[in-house]
Amino acid sequence: MDKILQMLQLQAQLNDATNGDKWVNGMTKNGKIINWKRCIYMESAEMIDSFSWKHWKSIHQEPDWDNLQIEVVDVWHFIMSLAIENYAQNMRGQIENLAIDISELTSFNHLNVQTRTFASQDEVIAKVENIMLLSLAKEGVNIENFMKEFFDLVLMSGLNLETLYRLYVGKNILNQFRQDNGYKEGTYIKVWNGDEDNVIMKKVWEENGDITPEALYRELTKLYLALNKS
Ligand code: MG
Ligand code: MG
Repeated sequence: MDKILQMLQLQAQLNDATNGDKWVNGMTKNGKIINWKRCIYMESAEMIDSFSWKHWKSIHQEPDWDNLQIEVVDVWHFIMSLAIENYAQNMRGQIENLAIDISELTSFNHLNVQTRTFASQDEVIAKVENIMLLSLAKEGVNIENFMKEFFDLVLMSGLNLETLYRLYVGKNILNQFRQDNGYKEGTYIKVWNGDEDNVIMKKVWEENGDITPEALYRELTKLYLALNKS
């Protein structure tokens, strides 16, 4: 329960900081419309691009499972945001209520495994397309269906609750860091000494499994400042 609650809280904080604290009404502090469903299907396309799905190009290329996992975590940002917005708009409760409801889903409890198995490329793509279909539906949003399809996908991508949590916290902190360093304005530097910031973030995590979100943020700051000096 605490992991799902923590992730939802971190997501709400990131959205407050990025969009202003009225974001659940569907508008940022800069007056831009927020469309979480669009975020979900556009990011889902990035998941599919982790595979050589094109029948006319690089047909023998191996799937990029590492990138798939990063994109799964990207989509998770948007699915949680959609769920928080849905609960707020329909007066279904606060983040704590949402966390309890999620923790009671069978598909969520399946994430408590230690094994690491990848589904086939075709199975993963079919699952991603289920998520796209849900996000393209004209009628109302069914949060439980989104969660079920997403948690299935987590397992099929070789992740479990522990690894989803670690990757999510890392990416959330990185997204916060990007926002604090000019991402919206376009002045942020994404490639650090030849490596994308995603890769650097993952490395810091892997070198110190017990690092707190705050310490990870500080470490990123140190590395980024050193970069600007050189
Ligand atoms: Mg990408
Ligand atoms: Mg992405």
